[in-house]
Amino acid sequence: MRTWTVDPLPLVGGLMGSDKYDLDLGHEHYLQFTHWRPKEAPGTILPEYANEPDQDKIGAIIYHKCKDGKTMPDGSREWCSSGIWFDCPIVLKFFPGKTPWKVEQWEPLTVSPSILCLSCGDHGHIKSGKWEPC
Ligand SMILES: [Zn+2]
Repeated sequence: MRTWTVDPLPLVGGLMGSDKYDLDLGHEHYLQFTHWRPKEAPGTILPEYANEPDQDKIGAIIYHKCKDGKTMPDGSREWCSSGIWFDCPIVLKFFPGKTPWKVEQWEPLTVSPSILCLSCGDHGHIKSGKWEPC
């Protein structure tokens, strides 16, 4: 069950619109925060979840170029994405099976530990709002 919502997928470089992501992390990595907005999905949220207040940042999706070499028809590398959860009260309460990332600082964003994409193997850190490849 997906109880968090994401704004319509951002598109970059033909897939993402440049104004839709929240942070340009560099190294062709773009971050979009995920939100907790139960009232935007009436009927799909369990009643005990529905009265929790909205929260703007409970995690993030990190869009990046595929590290495993998949390409688009034009020869450019395909876009891939991975998601992380932050160690905020909503995540700890409602997603107890998730291992959240610690937000060391919000501005500029630093999280720990490193982030490994389970789809393509892309690996790096977000430090001071920038992607640092591992
Ligand atoms: Zn990936």
